Amino acid sequence: MSLVDRKDIRLAALVFLLLFYLPTLISCSKEAPVVKETYVMGTKASITIYGMSRTKALGAAGKALHELHRLETVMSTWDPGSEISKLNLSAGKKPFVLSPELSELIRISTLFSEKTGGAFDITARPIVRLWGFQDGARQLPSDKEISNTLDRVGYGKIKIDENRNSVTLPEGTQIDLAGVAKGYGVDRCVEILKNEGVESALVNLGGNIYAFGSPPGKTGWVVGIRNPTGDSEITGYIILKDEAVATSGNYENFIRRDDETIGHIINPLTGRPVSGNTLSVTVISPTAAASDALSTALFVLGPEKGLNILREIKGTGSEDYISETALRAGKSAGAQYAKAVFIVSDGSRIRFVKSRGLEGKVILE
Ligand code: ADP
Ligand code: MG
Repeated sequence: MSLVDRKDIRLAALVFLLLFYLPTLISCSKEAPVVKETYVMGTKASITIYGMSRTKALGAAGKALHELHRLETVMSTWDPGSEISKLNLSAGKKPFVLSPELSELIRISTLFSEKTGGAFDITARPIVRLWGFQDGARQLPSDKEISNTLDRVGYGKIKIDENRNSVTLPEGTQIDLAGVAKGYGVDRCVEILKNEGVESALVNLGGNIYAFGSPPGKTGWVVGIRNPTGDSEITGYIILKDEAVATSGNYENFIRRDDETIGHIINPLTGRPVSGNTLSVTVISPTAAASDALSTALFVLGPEKGLNILREIKGTGSEDYISETALRAGKSAGAQYAKAVFIVSDGSRIRFVKSRGLEGKVILE
């Protein structure tokens, strides 16, 4: 959320295209959806609703989008007055008492960190900044700078006091929720829309999507998977119903420095931007927060480790973070799965590596 990135804008544009163009072409559906959009958390947000009067749908969507603007004032590291900025300023000083949502998001984030062996880590901010994301460093960092900065990174450094609802950060440690906050925001929107009586909607915040119910006459919502090579616009489709999807990749949000291309996802264990064959990874799961954080983590881990970790996560019981976030968002705790589609480069071609059980849900070209 703290980065205004081109990928988000393009993904948003892509989903827009698919939602309004493809479904009409395929089904010739007569009912037009109600759509409301805004620009928030550095990207475009849109809510598409079917099966409700225009006035009611616009009211419901308005409430949900308003919540995103409110969450931005809590979670944006760009805003010096936001709660997260104040928490970061408190590092090395006294415990910082958190609002309920920041407390929840930090707790969920550390669960994602534990489940992914630290591949997802909200304390990566100092190292993300060292590489020039957010405030544009001029040169590639040296090994020494990287190892010095890594001393300040690690989710274990976040000391949570459950009783006081406070967090203490050591000096120099900083939190960046960019890898999970958009997904969390989508889950909050879904909660609000359901409370307002909406039965069929798609929420898209910069490519972090949750869809529930289905458009009239359809079995689910059709969302495109972008071709990361740019050879064609789309390289597959997902049919979504009562679940979330997010895609992570370095192919659009990167900077060039000293002739090197640096992607915005950093491996918190090595302190270096992710390199390798993975071009993108798309994660389907019961909550948008989980899809958001896991897609970032799986991009770090790569297909082999990534898919193994997803298998381990499945069905780990009521403590499982997916069921926890699902419960929080008012969704079925039974839905404890997360599945992924990796797109990897294979010489001049691309190859898909995916979880089992996606037949009929994901159509790859
Ligand atoms: P993507 O959609 O490509 O996953 P996100 O916006 O969800 O991108 O997350 C990437 C952002 O999260 C980065 O811009 C950076 O601020 C932060 N980040 C980078 N690497 C990590 C990581 N390993 N764990 C958590 N956050 C990260
Ligand atoms: Mg993410």
